[in-house]
Amino acid sequence: MKRFRYFAGLSAPTYLLALFLLRERIPGGVPFLLSAGIGPLAAAYFFVSYLHARKRDDRVPDLLPLLAWAGAAAMEIHAFVPQVARTGVVPAALFFGLALRFPPRLSVPAILCVDAWLAAVPGPIEKEIYYISAMALIAGAAGVAVRGRYRRGGLEENGVQEAIARSRTLVLPWEDSGNDGLPATGEMTEESSLLRREEELKDGIRQALDRLLGLTGASHVAYVARSGSPGTALHEGFLLSRGSSVSREISLPDTYVPVREATVFRKPFLEVGPGAMRYAPWESGPGSAPSGVAAVPVVREGVVEGVLLAVREEEGPWRDPVIPAMELAGHFVGRDIDRMRELHQGDRYFLRGDWYHKMVRRMAEVGTEGDPEPADGAHSGRETVYAETAEQVRRQVDAERVLLVESGEDAGNGRVVWETSAEGRGPGPEGYEPIGDSYVGWVIRNGTQRIFPGSAGPPRSQGVLPVSWEREGERSFLVLPMGGWVGFRGALVCAHPQEKRFQKHHAEIARDITRVMQLGLSHVEQIESLTKKATTDGLTGLSNRKAFLERLAQDLARLDGRHPCGVVMLDIDHFKGINDTCGHPFGDEVLRGVASVLGKGVRKGDTAGRYGGEEFVLYLHMADTGRAREGAERFRRMIRQIRFAHAGKDISVTASFGVACAPHHGNDVEELLKHADEALYLSKRRGRDRVTVYPG
Ligand code: GH3
Ligand code: MG
Ligand code: MG
Repeated sequence: MKRFRYFAGLSAPTYLLALFLLRERIPGGVPFLLSAGIGPLAAAYFFVSYLHARKRDDRVPDLLPLLAWAGAAAMEIHAFVPQVARTGVVPAALFFGLALRFPPRLSVPAILCVDAWLAAVPGPIEKEIYYISAMALIAGAAGVAVRGRYRRGGLEENGVQEAIARSRTLVLPWEDSGNDGLPATGEMTEESSLLRREEELKDGIRQALDRLLGLTGASHVAYVARSGSPGTALHEGFLLSRGSSVSREISLPDTYVPVREATVFRKPFLEVGPGAMRYAPWESGPGSAPSGVAAVPVVREGVVEGVLLAVREEEGPWRDPVIPAMELAGHFVGRDIDRMRELHQGDRYFLRGDWYHKMVRRMAEVGTEGDPEPADGAHSGRETVYAETAEQVRRQVDAERVLLVESGEDAGNGRVVWETSAEGRGPGPEGYEPIGDSYVGWVIRNGTQRIFPGSAGPPRSQGVLPVSWEREGERSFLVLPMGGWVGFRGALVCAHPQEKRFQKHHAEIARDITRVMQLGLSHVEQIESLTKKATTDGLTGLSNRKAFLERLAQDLARLDGRHPCGVVMLDIDHFKGINDTCGHPFGDEVLRGVASVLGKGVRKGDTAGRYGGEEFVLYLHMADTGRAREGAERFRRMIRQIRFAHAGKDISVTASFGVACAPHHGNDVEELLKHADEALYLSKRRGRDRVTVYPG
């Protein structure tokens, strides 16, 4: 199309030149009429096609051939019709038009050319040549002036229209009648989004290839992407050759050495000279006898997406250092791939519909004030995220049972953190189990999803699930790896008793849902870390005073005076002396040591907290006076036994304890703490390193 345009434009001056040369030999009659008719006929033809193109709003009307041929026709009329020539209107109009349409840089030489033509073919009225030329030049000057004044006006419109048309084909390609398989209405579907984004990507890659051709001086450049599952992949892509604006689709086998070097070893490949012949990408035709072959991998987030390949046919060195140029192009291609995926993800977000949006919103609110209720069966924000994810997957994928598996350090161990089925929902048993022998372990290790259709699936000598997770009658499985983000690595498992239940599109939906789960988990993690910061003591890691008091108040309310509980306060003896003789940092070390003994020594359900400087508190759940005293004694002995090394000496400390118990010594926080403190004071008075139970 582009070529035709220039051909049509350039043929007009050629025609005029021919006419000028033949003029003397065309005396008149039929040959004269025939030749003289070409100019107006061509002008008429381009005029009609211009009007036609204008009516279609998907076409940008092309003015160039029309202008060229209209000009040629007008000059022809000027040359042959004395009445017209005498007025000088043709050169004047031409000059005006040229000056109006083109910037001075172009229009001045064009005007000079036309002027030369006028001088050479002065027309029937030779003596009026000066008058005609003067008129033409005045008109030309007027055109330049007008153009300068209105250049921002309507004359620029053409460029704008062209830009609109360009972005339109890019953004709304389904409105283009030439695109098979896309809905004509402009309505987006999952497939159309993919096709459209792929087209955009291909455009980007084509541009990168085009630049690469120029930069490297290669004869052929190609981008090949992986297709199929890794390991058995053929590489497909397209090829751009020098001197051709059309790209061809190609496919290269996995065994082709330059591609293998790039994909398997992730190394650039370069071979020049006679040796390059061995690496011809194909056996015949252009490119089959290369003098140079280069390949670089396009890597994105650790994954090889594809390979850029350049083939040179001429002898001699590449124009530029070829590998850096290709790596740069690879970077741009990789960025285009990322962008395409992001946009497609965005399209899918809109396509998924209401439930998806609701889930996104819910995940963004988990654990915050906007979300007071945990999900059914869940006891924490994290479990709410698991529960919502599993439920949504079960519904959208139509699975009988959904398991969320978290893997241990390596993928050899795993734990069901959530299970949802018709029978119920909740976390699986605590503790990791070996899963390395099952396909779930395999999926986590390899990061590749697997669909098990049932009896036609892989041999069941290796179970999809570890035996203890299996359930009678389940046949189809979909196992999706989850990972690559903070806080969770594992797999999502969908199970169903029917054979061939799960297809690829189920995996797509499930994957989208796990992406939302990622959002929820990152929120929950943020909230957890903030809460932890707000409730723990920075130096010792125990509960801080505020958190301890809250916990105590909560438990007292729950016990409601019907069950006992103990509160123990302790204060390190002569701590000021330790600080003074050994220094403050050593004092801190002592505090950490004592805190560690307390934190590790309390039973489940009990709490240890740092009350103030070197004062600690313990909450002993369901402990009556006797048990609380026993507990305090146990800690007193443990603290005595700690050895702190300072300046080559072992130093030990002691602490004094005060104990008060609910409901005997009080039923609210203040009363209990006050009484425990009084008992502690008695311990100090009586010689330190002892336990006193209120009232002493
Ligand atoms: P007593 O046996 O009567 O409790 O004697 P004591 O020296 O422990 O007396 P007191 O409880 O009045 O002294 C507390 C000292 O603990 C005062 C302060 O310098 C020190 N202290 C408080 N907080 C910290 C801390 O975070 N780090 C260190 N190194 N010292 C602290
Ligand atoms: Mg003190
Ligand atoms: Mg003290």
